[in-house]
Amino acid sequence: MRYSIDTIPVLDAFGKPTGCPFCTLYEKLETESLDHYMGDSKMEPGVRIAMNETGFCARHFARMYNDYEGRLGLALIVDTHTRHRMGRMQKNADALLGLCAREDGFFDRARSAQTLGAQLNELARQIRADDGSCMVCRRVDTHLRRYVETAVYLWEHEAGFDRLLREGDGLCLKHTADLLEVCAKGILSAKKRALIAQVLTMQQEKMTVELEDLGWFIRKFDYRNKEKPWGQAKTALPRVLNRLKGRILYSGSESSQ
Ligand SMILES: [Zn+2]
Ligand SMILES: [Zn+2]
Repeated sequence: MRYSIDTIPVLDAFGKPTGCPFCTLYEKLETESLDHYMGDSKMEPGVRIAMNETGFCARHFARMYNDYEGRLGLALIVDTHTRHRMGRMQKNADALLGLCAREDGFFDRARSAQTLGAQLNELARQIRADDGSCMVCRRVDTHLRRYVETAVYLWEHEAGFDRLLREGDGLCLKHTADLLEVCAKGILSAKKRALIAQVLTMQQEKMTVELEDLGWFIRKFDYRNKEKPWGQAKTALPRVLNRLKGRILYSGSESSQ
């Protein structure tokens, strides 16, 4: 087998039945990436410039605030990033303020409103784009894509990997989409087709069972079912939400709860 640096973490994640293995890998990459940016690297000039330019998404700013002690480092990051964003906004805002203040004659009003509308949309687009950009997401997405490619490679070339996938908990929908995109690249070999069939069939089976559990969870609210056993229903709601959105509610073994 061709061991690469990505093989071991992928095999590890698929070897543990703890929900979607790519969510396990995502969490690991996310924590490593946050540690990286909250560690010494935040003082490197190149990293600081990138942090000012790109910043972090809401989820990752919140994790930096909540999960790391010592607020000075984060305060410095936020200070210079905010100044950078204010500077970018100001360029568009100056033009907008000029247009808002202008008093047009009757014939110019329609054209002026069109120009103002276009500039409002441009400023909104720029604020949204800045708001969504994130150094952690960017870094994690790049690495995770490599892990998905590694999983497809292992399915095609490594005996025994298919068993790990079959015996696992399946994938969340977000990472199902990632896997399908990776499979779509290059030649759709017979093994890749078998992988797609395996994953899609598994998703249907797992989601059917989870929906049955969710149905029982809902029916348990009926007083007539109060004394009946919960079975697997107690964890149905977080399991379905994690299936839909990636692991958002808890990590650890879903199977054993
Ligand atoms: Zn996932
Ligand atoms: Zn992010």
